[in-house]
Amino acid sequence: MAADLQACPCGRIGAQKKPLAYAACCGRYLDHFDTTPAPDAESLMRSRYTAFVRERADYLLATWHPSQRPATLDFEAGAKWLGLEVKAHRAIDETHAMVEFAARCRGADGRATRMQERSRFVREQGRWYYVDADPG
Ligand SMILES: [Zn+2]
Repeated sequence: MAADLQACPCGRIGAQKKPLAYAACCGRYLDHFDTTPAPDAESLMRSRYTAFVRERADYLLATWHPSQRPATLDFEAGAKWLGLEVKAHRAIDETHAMVEFAARCRGADGRATRMQERSRFVREQGRWYYVDADPG
């Protein structure tokens, strides 16, 4: 099956209670960033997780707020992302939001780790950006 038709790595469940396909979920933003930015902070957070899974540094950097954006991004060789759980999405005001999530990853050494964060997002000129995070 084409990768675009497989369940999106972010695990989002659609209206029919079935996992959304990549092309109907984060793929809309990852592959059409210029014309279709993620419409809310949770969608952006999910699409950034999917970008980690697909090692899309271009998307991760483009959706990082310029004030915090690293110059380059390296992916851990052999690491495998195992799943995402969005625990909370809180709109603080029109242009600020917080998303709390947990992501599981298995490193090249085979050890599983669980990463939990509260990420901050800001909207500027109609686009949401990831700013930074506190450990959850
Ligand atoms: Zn997705």
